[in-house]
Amino acid sequence: MRILVTGGAGFIGSYISESIIGQGHEVVCVDNLFTGSMDNLEGVADNPRFTFIKHDIVEPLFIDGVIDQVYNLACPASPVQYQSNQVHTIKANTVGMINMLGLAREHGARFLQASTSEVYGDPEVHPQVEEYRGNVNPIGPRACYDEGKRVAETLCFDYFRMHGMEIKVVRIFNTYGPRMAFNDGRVVSNFIVQALKKEPLTLYGDGSQTRSFCYVDDLVTGLIAMMKTDKKITGPINLGNPQEMSIQTFAATISDLCDSKQKPLYKDLPIDDPRRRCPDITKAKKLLQWEPKVSLADGLKKTIVDFRARLEKSQV
Ligand code: NAD
Ligand code: UDP
Repeated sequence: MRILVTGGAGFIGSYISESIIGQGHEVVCVDNLFTGSMDNLEGVADNPRFTFIKHDIVEPLFIDGVIDQVYNLACPASPVQYQSNQVHTIKANTVGMINMLGLAREHGARFLQASTSEVYGDPEVHPQVEEYRGNVNPIGPRACYDEGKRVAETLCFDYFRMHGMEIKVVRIFNTYGPRMAFNDGRVVSNFIVQALKKEPLTLYGDGSQTRSFCYVDDLVTGLIAMMKTDKKITGPINLGNPQEMSIQTFAATISDLCDSKQKPLYKDLPIDDPRRRCPDITKAKKLLQWEPKVSLADGLKKTIVDFRARLEKSQV
């Protein structure tokens, strides 16, 4: 098969590209390199079955030849990055979505959308089930992403209803692993970099807000399993690790693993920061026979080894 991965030079996209190449398929990777990097593609860049196109999905795109599947991941994912150009984030999730759905339709390709737990906003239902319609502030600073991703889901289902397209909507919960950008502002990268540099960990608010962290290998297995499901399975489906913890406990875990004794540095909680987040993965277990396998301790250890090596390299 020939598979288009938008956002393929990003954190998750690069693992998907590698996995698809590893299965003997062809990858066409489309990325504007806003938050992604060619460094992430080192393992596949020279493979004859891999093609890279530098392109912003907000602009129309035409690809010659066959495209069998599209993984649509092109969108900055961290609050700092997606708020740095809010209008562009909305464009990627509206204009860009229409461009990519149109491309997939033209090719008769199956389309998997990387949606997000952010569609639940600051949730009043806990853990979050797919039926929950969310609690999103439509005019806040996160809305460009949250509402953008909600519209993106709407567009998938409109193309499904109007054009009979094969769609798969996956709501991804916080995912981490080696290769995350140092400076993306997400809690995992911030805390690991700070702990390795023996700097105080920046805790936003009182640290009582919760998240549930999924190791990237587990997530990619789930995404690929979802893409392979029968045509009638559209999602939305949650993929994430249901092991929930407070950010304060998460900070202590990272400090321990990095042997850092610094006290946390408390900072203001960002506006509309969700107070708690945990996926209900009953559907994924049933439909995909999927559940995360990598423990937080094991996943963090691998991530820290990678961050330490990259930090040392960047300081040489
Ligand atoms: P990332 O920022 O590392 O990857 C996004 C990639 O998309 C980057 O390579 C970036 O350059 C590219 N991109 C951004 N805007 C683009 C545009 N307009 N045109 C072309 N390319 C563009 O983030 P990630 O963590 O790998 O996330 C990938 C996808 O998964 C995103 O759609 C994100 O919303 C979704 N997601 C991620 C998480 C997570 O915890 N990592 C959680 C929920 C959803
Ligand atoms: N956070 C924090 N310190 C940081 C970065 C993030 O305390 O240096 C908190 C943030 O306020 C949020 C959680 O960690 O409650 C997860 O933040 P992240 O930006 O990784 O992703 P989110 O799940 O909010 O999209």
